[in-house]
Amino acid sequence: MSLVKTSDIAKHDLEEQGRILIVESSHLYLTLIEGAVNDVFSGQVDKASTFDEVKSLIEEHKGEYFLVLLNLVLPGASQGEAVNYVRNYDLPAVVFTSSVDEALVNQIQSLGVIDYIIKENVTNLELVSKMVRRLDHNRRITALIVDDSATMREQMQVLLSKYLFKIEVAENGVEALEKVRSDDTIRLVITDYEMPKMNGFELIKKLRTFKESRDLAIVGMSSDERDKLATDFIRFGADDFVKKGISHEEFATRISLCMDKLDLLNELMLRATTDFLTKLWNRMYFMSASSTLFSSASRGQITIDVAMIDLDHFKRINDTYGHDAGDEVLREVAAALKSIIRGTDLLARMGGEEFCLLAVNVSAEHREKFFNSLREAVSELEFSFNGENVRMSASMGITSILGDSVEDMMNRADAALYEAKEAGRNQCVFAD
Ligand code: GH3
Ligand code: MG
Ligand code: MG
Ligand code: MG
Repeated sequence: MSLVKTSDIAKHDLEEQGRILIVESSHLYLTLIEGAVNDVFSGQVDKASTFDEVKSLIEEHKGEYFLVLLNLVLPGASQGEAVNYVRNYDLPAVVFTSSVDEALVNQIQSLGVIDYIIKENVTNLELVSKMVRRLDHNRRITALIVDDSATMREQMQVLLSKYLFKIEVAENGVEALEKVRSDDTIRLVITDYEMPKMNGFELIKKLRTFKESRDLAIVGMSSDERDKLATDFIRFGADDFVKKGISHEEFATRISLCMDKLDLLNELMLRATTDFLTKLWNRMYFMSASSTLFSSASRGQITIDVAMIDLDHFKRINDTYGHDAGDEVLREVAAALKSIIRGTDLLARMGGEEFCLLAVNVSAEHREKFFNSLREAVSELEFSFNGENVRMSASMGITSILGDSVEDMMNRADAALYEAKEAGRNQCVFAD
């Protein structure tokens, strides 16, 4: 079996990521900014220190830059010519400037840039990282604007696309609900209050029945001056409320906060449910998700098999080649197992070099073949440590007898696993 090499995966990702261009004439600043960008962005980062380099890079990589971070003044381009050039290509830009006065801010904003950063001190690098991460995330998110006024929709569209969101619009709540249901990339809804068919509150209430806070950020919006409207929006499940006509900067800041919160909730959820090393589910998630599947199996709606999978003599890998080699084996084994199972199956790293699989609807005639294909996938992996070729194998205990609970099934599978080890390892033992 040939596994996809990690280098191939990285290359594929790079193409999807696009590029970022940093333009800065000071070598020191260039290096610092590059570090700040690389901290949060895994795609290609290009650097330029003169206007000519900017031109040739943009020519060379037409359509690949999703963001340009550039100094307002460059040697030979002291009047913001580089910014103009970048904007003429319609490239989103963030501008660095060493000083700001009102005239300068106006000049920068008239160039249609996303934002500007004052180069005052090194601590602003954190701001660079934050901004790049936010914009990088935004371009994968669709924002849905819900308003019965076409003018408002257009205004919001212009504003939100500046921050790289993809945009969808809806004239009323019914249309909005349909769009959110059918498009999973919608992670932000900005809704008016007064609309025909359904007001903003009703829309939010309905949205929250199938979209949690970590799936969808909702911002209420109205020209209505009543304070109660803001509290009510939030009570009905909005994350924030803005009055129509607030400054673009305040609006952008609030939207960023909402999206940061959504990212954070997802990050927390991911950390709580996945195993950091292998990116498989962890034990905690396995125990909670498997009980739902167990209930369905008890009602006869599906069949389930539970398999305990344990690597053979794994300790030797650590002892002979070091802990990092052991970690690599665990990651590769996880990837190999994952490439075989189906989306409905539940695979977790339970700890150490032990995995547990809950497989759904494996037919009786394919059962032996299926579990043995997992075992074979592990034994076909090839590793090279210290110039030596190293192979692994796994033993498995499997049961389809439901018993009282998933724990019950796991115990039975564990006993079968023990038998597989006793019988010489690298084999499957079925407990039924
Ligand atoms: P058996 O065939 O009987 O299962 O032998 P074994 O060596 O695989 O089993 P044993 O339980 O004796 O050893 C498991 C080893 O796994 C011991 C532990 O140091 C190592 N281990 C546990 N977690 C990790 C990890 O996250 N990374 C690495 N590299 N090793 C780990
Ligand atoms: Mg309205
Ligand atoms: Mg083991
Ligand atoms: Mg073990």
